[in-house]
Amino acid sequence: RLPAVAVSACLAGERCTYKASSNLIEGYGELAVLCRPVLVCPEVMGGLATPRDPAEIQGNKVVSCRGTDVTCEYERGAAEALRLAQEAGCAFALLKENSPSCGCGHVYDGTFSHTLVEGDGITARAFKREGIATFGESQIDALIEAIHAERL
Ligand code: SF4
Repeated sequence: RLPAVAVSACLAGERCTYKASSNLIEGYGELAVLCRPVLVCPEVMGGLATPRDPAEIQGNKVVSCRGTDVTCEYERGAAEALRLAQEAGCAFALLKENSPSCGCGHVYDGTFSHTLVEGDGITARAFKREGIATFGESQIDALIEAIHAERL
């Protein structure tokens, strides 16, 4: 049985970003035949509309560019994405870098000035806390290697 991998839905081509576009990545087709992708978009799952205002993490809150506190939606979406990933038995996740939900390693600093700082998005934190091995899209080759290694 192929391993289940949670994937940020926008990386798989879904037009679910805040501007209703996708972030389809080149290696997705190769990954998709090696695993059972479990597509998650935590922002949509948390009840936010598409398109929507961009948001960034500010301290322990997530705030939109208009100043709306969307922390609850982000937390609800993270919980729902985690539930789906765990139900499917995902040991790995491929997450969209820099997103306040999915970002792993770096996120924007909360000033809406395109400034990255070290840190994880709300969903990436939840996945890591539960022991899911998370990879950003620039690490897709490492993820594919890890899947091959697990199947040996
Ligand atoms: Fe993509 Fe994640 Fe943002 Fe949804 S929440 S659009 S999956 S980066």
